[in-house]
Amino acid sequence: NPELARAESLIREIADYPEPGILFRDITPLLADAEALRVTTAALLEPFTGTFDVVAGIEARGFLLAGAAAIAAGVGLVPIRKAGKLPRPAASVDYALEYGTATIEMHDDLPAGTRVLLIDDVLATGGTLAAGRRLVEQLGCVVAGISVLFEIDGLGGRELTGDLHTVFRSA
Ligand code: IMP
Repeated sequence: NPELARAESLIREIADYPEPGILFRDITPLLADAEALRVTTAALLEPFTGTFDVVAGIEARGFLLAGAAAIAAGVGLVPIRKAGKLPRPAASVDYALEYGTATIEMHDDLPAGTRVLLIDDVLATGGTLAAGRRLVEQLGCVVAGISVLFEIDGLGGRELTGDLHTVFRSA
């Protein structure tokens, strides 16, 4: 698909950010391009048509894609935020980072059994999305699927998250 190939070419690689030795994938040039944003949003949703009731995006770049995806799919949007940002968190999950731990939280505004499509920008170790899955399940909802714009291969992310759909993957 030439439109998707063009969108992928807009992902910028930044060496040594945020730390030496890390190759950061910067999706902001893709987001800034109307056609690239449109085709990647459609590609994120494509395998999941009719299988979910709501989209959940993970702070912070996941919000951008989840917002576009929710509008495109005609469903609502739920934020999964870092600890301390939501006024009335109903559930929280701690997960391991390379150095230390992080916590994500969610409100309880969905009926039990709601089918949630989880969206984030980049999959690396998988810790963030695996925690997102546990969070959704803690609230009695169902993970309809996980969809990610860019998968960094070779870090074991897929093993941690379980089944997931990615639009682009590192070589
Ligand atoms: P993981 O938990 O190790 O899979 O890391 C994924 C989280 O870190 C996601 O929420 C991403 O937004 C962020 N992240 C990791 N690497 C990158 C990158 O190269 N570009 C943009 N975000 C990244």
